[in-house]
Amino acid sequence: MTDLTLHPDAGARILDLLSGFTGSRTVASFVDGRTVEGAGEMLALTDPATGQAFASFRDAGAQVVDAAMEASARAQGQWAAMSASARGRVLFEIARLIRQNAEAIAELECRSAGRPIRDVRGEAGRVADMFDYYGGWCDKLHGEVIPVPSSHLNYTRHEPLGVVAQITPWNAPLFTGGWQIAPAIAAGNGVVIKPSELTPLATLVLGVLCEKAGAPRGLVNVIAGQGSTSGHAAVTHPRTALVVFVGSEGAGSAIAGAAARNLVPCILELGGKSGNIVFPDADLDRAILGAQSAIFGGAGQSCVAGSRLLVHRSIHAQFVEKYARATRRIPVGSPLLETTQIGPINNARQWAKIDEMVKEGLAAGARLAAGGEKPQELAATGGYYYAPTILDEVDPAARIAQAEIFGPVVAVTPFDTEEEAVALANGTPYGLAGAVWTRDVGRAHRVAAQVRAGTFWINGYKTINVMSPFGGFGRSGYGRSSGKEALLAYTAVKSVWVETAAEPAVSFGYSAD
Ligand code: NAD
Repeated sequence: MTDLTLHPDAGARILDLLSGFTGSRTVASFVDGRTVEGAGEMLALTDPATGQAFASFRDAGAQVVDAAMEASARAQGQWAAMSASARGRVLFEIARLIRQNAEAIAELECRSAGRPIRDVRGEAGRVADMFDYYGGWCDKLHGEVIPVPSSHLNYTRHEPLGVVAQITPWNAPLFTGGWQIAPAIAAGNGVVIKPSELTPLATLVLGVLCEKAGAPRGLVNVIAGQGSTSGHAAVTHPRTALVVFVGSEGAGSAIAGAAARNLVPCILELGGKSGNIVFPDADLDRAILGAQSAIFGGAGQSCVAGSRLLVHRSIHAQFVEKYARATRRIPVGSPLLETTQIGPINNARQWAKIDEMVKEGLAAGARLAAGGEKPQELAATGGYYYAPTILDEVDPAARIAQAEIFGPVVAVTPFDTEEEAVALANGTPYGLAGAVWTRDVGRAHRVAAQVRAGTFWINGYKTINVMSPFGGFGRSGYGRSSGKEALLAYTAVKSVWVETAAEPAVSFGYSAD
């Protein structure tokens, strides 16, 4: 394990790491197997741990997106013509290359996105697992024979859609990149993926590794650019057969509208305001640990974050007191340090949004049990740090209990009955995730069945795996983007009818003779 703090020039180190994959220290799009500079506005990349800009690049723009779409369409034809097993072997090779380069990929993600090294090291392996999982599916994705009531053989084929446009946010670019690219190409599609303009580097690396592993040149293209320009160009491009969007509700709605006008389907993975319910019969020590990882892991910049903690009134005061004591001990600091559990917020705008919502919550009557500010000892770093924050006695109708904050801030509300806990959990327009802590098996399953959420945990929080479907209910989005479900979503089913009768029955028309 290298000591990451040994490189004083962080910006130079990031660009060195990038060039180890792309062969160039220039930040730009990866299109048709090469680095292509954009023509649009100049954009800066900032180190969240210092607030210092370390690179700049030009927004890709519509022309670069168009070149990516054409390259992907051409490569997709070659890809789909390969045998399913050969495609699977390419995905296995991508996984191998990710594992081989895991340390450099993790360091790049840590430095450029500000994510704690302890989180991203494990993540590189999990991204490799995604390509292994879907590589295994390549030669197992087949149709079925349907016993139709006629003399026909009727069978189905799962065919690729063509080129898929994928748009991803800044909170976990490496993980989200693998999560989206792997099922898309396993199903035989080409990909044009546009990561957030704030964090394009890990996705660029994934694009390069796909090609190094033997995917046809241009199959996976990565666009370095903004949403309203480059992202919009990808969503509305005539080659786009499916749009997959991970991000905020507002952008998701605009993108789904633009895709609909193009008659293109969407998968939307949006935000959440997940309820984490604790009953008095739970293992409370475990529940306290779970309630920390639920909201403070990734500095709360996680769509499934347990941002509402619903605690039974009989244990509420004692639970919150212990939870706050434990929370004050969580190490916040440089993402480069092995001991850091909470790194900086990704960007200044998000930091300001978090702080503004905390202040609003306090003004609306919440009680501050922990945090609520930038940690004093990190003020001189210039980084976007925010102390893990617990707001107690929160009115469930208040904005801090209803709107996604996307930061290390939890809103605690007491409840009296199981019915009330379920109603509170379901009391937002979202439906992404949730959890319950109890030793009562019947209650655990009752609550799991009644909470409206795409993912639900019993006595745990935050485990997700590429093998299991993931997605939202309500305003958290629609469609599923992992498991077998994603593979099917990335294909269209064709029904083929074959006449097998020696003398087919004729019910319409006349013979010419
Ligand atoms: P965002 O919606 O602002 O941006 C997400 C992506 O969309 C970026 O790449 C951006 O450039 C692009 N974009 C924005 N407007 C666009 C447009 N009109 N056309 C095309 N592309 C456009 O979100 P963000 O601030 O980057 O990320 C935070 C949000 O993402 C949070 O709300 C969070 O809940 C959500 N998120 C959801 C999941 C999930 O799986 N459900 C996972 C991670 C993050």
